[in-house]
Amino acid sequence: MQRAFAIDVLECPECGGRLRLLATIISSDAIQRILSHLQLPTSRPVLAPARAPPGDVG
Ligand SMILES: [Zn+2]
Repeated sequence: MQRAFAIDVLECPECGGRLRLLATIISSDAIQRILSHLQLPTSRPVLAPARAPPGDVG
């Protein structure tokens, strides 16, 4: 994320302090329960169909 998007995922968005990795969660059931608890979406976003680049009239 840092190299590709210049996003520091370990920087606190509230105070700018340093965060630390506590765990890596790979169980989809656990992830769904955590997201539900945080009232965040648990399903994938609907993908929009690809479109032609700007200026490309077909
Ligand atoms: Zn903070």
